[in-house]
Amino acid sequence: MVVFSCRSWVYESIATVIAPENIKGIARQRNEATRKLITRLASSDKRRLDNIVHGFHHEIFSKYNCMQCANCCRSLGPRITQRDIEVLAKTLKQKQQSFVETYLRIDSDGDYVFKQMPCPFLDGDNSCRVYQHRPKACREYPHTDRPRFYQLLALSAKNAEVCPVVYEILLRLEKMKI
Ligand code: SF4
Ligand code: SF4
Repeated sequence: MVVFSCRSWVYESIATVIAPENIKGIARQRNEATRKLITRLASSDKRRLDNIVHGFHHEIFSKYNCMQCANCCRSLGPRITQRDIEVLAKTLKQKQQSFVETYLRIDSDGDYVFKQMPCPFLDGDNSCRVYQHRPKACREYPHTDRPRFYQLLALSAKNAEVCPVVYEILLRLEKMKI
């Protein structure tokens, strides 16, 4: 939601009012606009872009409770590193081999991912049973606080179909002259 106030644009978070189950359809309606945005941002000032995106990330996530969403935990298969396996197996008091056999498969890129999604550690209330020890990919998602955002433009366009916060960040960027 965008409201006009005192000659400046003041944003309220639209991520909070989008039903997570609708984000894919909503984002896909804006595919063409997002494609144009990505092209424009690719030639923008990279440092300024990082500053803006990181600011939006922190502002929107400060208002957004991921437990109302959990879309990423339902649909994206995080890459599981060897370090993640060591930590999760220890957390679950399992042998690493047993953990791998129980929960993981190897994907077409040769990486370990969860055998099935939704994630086996996602509880019914959208909490993560291994939150303190969750995989690195889970901790880093949706990558909007990472440096060199210009390298993540195409990925972020895809993530906007999953994550309401990424969707809002792209929408805000679209309205800016950068
Ligand atoms: S490990 Fe936790 S944070 Fe990662 S996908 Fe599963 S439920 Fe989500
Ligand atoms: S990171 Fe994005 S997709 Fe994942 S739970 Fe939070 S708002 Fe939803």
